Amino acid sequence: MNNKFKVLIGVDVETDVGSFTPFYEGVKKGVPILLDIFEKENVKATFYFVGEMAKLNPEIAKLVAKSNNEVGCHSLYHETIGDEIFPIPGIKPLLPHEIEPRLKIATEWVEKASGVRPVSFRCPRLWGSTSVVNALENLGYTSDATYPLYFYRKQFEPYFPSRNDWTEKGDSKVLEIPNFADMTMKSNDSPIERDRDQWPQFRTIGADFIINKVKSFLEFMENKSEQPVICFYIHPWEFISCKKSFYFGEATVTPDEFITKNTGKVAIDELRKMIKILKELGGDFKTAKEIAEIWNRK
Ligand SMILES: [Zn+2]
Repeated sequence: MNNKFKVLIGVDVETDVGSFTPFYEGVKKGVPILLDIFEKENVKATFYFVGEMAKLNPEIAKLVAKSNNEVGCHSLYHETIGDEIFPIPGIKPLLPHEIEPRLKIATEWVEKASGVRPVSFRCPRLWGSTSVVNALENLGYTSDATYPLYFYRKQFEPYFPSRNDWTEKGDSKVLEIPNFADMTMKSNDSPIERDRDQWPQFRTIGADFIINKVKSFLEFMENKSEQPVICFYIHPWEFISCKKSFYFGEATVTPDEFITKNTGKVAIDELRKMIKILKELGGDFKTAKEIAEIWNRK
């Protein structure tokens, strides 16, 4: 495979284990670890900050802003802002009229903390919607790296969505960037088909496994004559050793095993290995902002 292809590493900066804990160990310790890996490997990434994470950890937001990497936004409180793919306890999707005002505040908090106004976005859990993409357009965003390919399975390369249905092509100015998934395997997880998804197999199975998925996706795209962007989503908390369960106040949360498996050293080693192989294969690492600029010139 000699063709160059683009790679977008999106880092979703949120509380430990996503929605289910109120802790920030990953934000404080994991972001510097990732910045160090990216600097040593001479690649760049986009860090999507939850507004509250930036507000409470402005030194971390500034650290990213000062680096070669991009500061993006990942909602206000990691709430469900798009269409939910499966229900989660205690978190209902925002009402349509709540979306834009909350994204506006999130944008302001990230800007205030980092000194950079974000133009790149990703929805929590990859749960996007037409209302979200339209709000992002009104707020001046240029890309949304949300589309979960494993679930919708319609758009394979970055595209400008319709203002009436974000999963179809249209005239929106916000470039939608799909998160790659395995489109060649047989899914045993009907109808959601989450087993096609990439995450978090770089650490639960390993870099070699995910590289094979990348190669099969590149081949799949070559056959369709479409331009692949290998878009990943990872989180700072994966790069510190996570506890198996978390107690706070009224409950102990014990995530599924795959959520915390091999977090810490294994995750660091496998991410580093994955980046090295992607570079050898011709991977050209870009930020989301740069990818939006490239697609706007086409
Ligand atoms: Zn998230």
